[in-house]
Amino acid sequence: MKTHPLHQRHDRRFDQNRFVYPVLSRRSGGISVGINLNPDKICNFDCIYCQVERTSQSETRFVETSQLLEELDQMLSIVTAGELFTESRFSSTPPLLRRLNDIAFSGDGEPTTYRNFDMLIESCSEVKRRHGLDDVKMILITNASMFHRPHVQRGLEILDANQGEIWAKLEAGTDAYYQQVERTSIPFRQILDNILAAARRWPLVIQALFMRIDGQPPSGEEQQAFCDRLREITDQGGQLSLVQVYTVARPPAESTVTPLEETEVDRLVELVRQQTGLAVQGYYGSLQGISADGD
Ligand code: SF4
Repeated sequence: MKTHPLHQRHDRRFDQNRFVYPVLSRRSGGISVGINLNPDKICNFDCIYCQVERTSQSETRFVETSQLLEELDQMLSIVTAGELFTESRFSSTPPLLRRLNDIAFSGDGEPTTYRNFDMLIESCSEVKRRHGLDDVKMILITNASMFHRPHVQRGLEILDANQGEIWAKLEAGTDAYYQQVERTSIPFRQILDNILAAARRWPLVIQALFMRIDGQPPSGEEQQAFCDRLREITDQGGQLSLVQVYTVARPPAESTVTPLEETEVDRLVELVRQQTGLAVQGYYGSLQGISADGD
């Protein structure tokens, strides 16, 4: 899948907003209204490819719920009335993409680390209902590290009751590669167990970013091990509705990280498809982008 030029524009801020921002999303084919639950830019992973700009400190350190909900309310009005496309940044959006696809919880860190995650998902669902947007999805973009916490489980249930989708990061097959890429104290086993437990309840979308490190793509063994982890999940009753294979599209945290070639993405997509029988979608990268987005 080719990237539309506007897809590179992932500016987190919109006018004076601090938590809610519109994105023309290359993966969803429309406007995604993003909600940033990590304005302090703190994450429990430290991915070598992370595209959050962490050289400057954010002025906003904490989530202010009432402000966030007000921004969401206004943003949904602006997008559904078409006013967004009178803004210079969005005026060249192709007609087919002038649609609200989803509300996405992501941000400059891991959204499920927000301690009032469940309450916030509930409040955002209410705003969506008030706007009559029952068909609009709510997408959680997550590294799956906190699914075992009770308040996160509650949040996932509320999400599911409101056209929710969980897009969970899994982009390694071995512990060594996971540690090299995600640089976290959270064990790989915990992530795999969390994904399996959630996938047994709801169909999950897997997000897998692969890259070149020091010029080298992931080894054949690593790619095979990744397929094996996916198969283990489905063999144990986990439902995976889609695997998204993508690569670096904006400047990463480490300069040793560069995008996979398009042919490498294609080959990996084919391998995952053949080995797992799952639906797989590939997305190409480029490093022309200027703004930051964690995932
Ligand atoms: S890519 Fe996502 S999970 Fe990884 S460090 Fe950045 S914000 Fe955290």
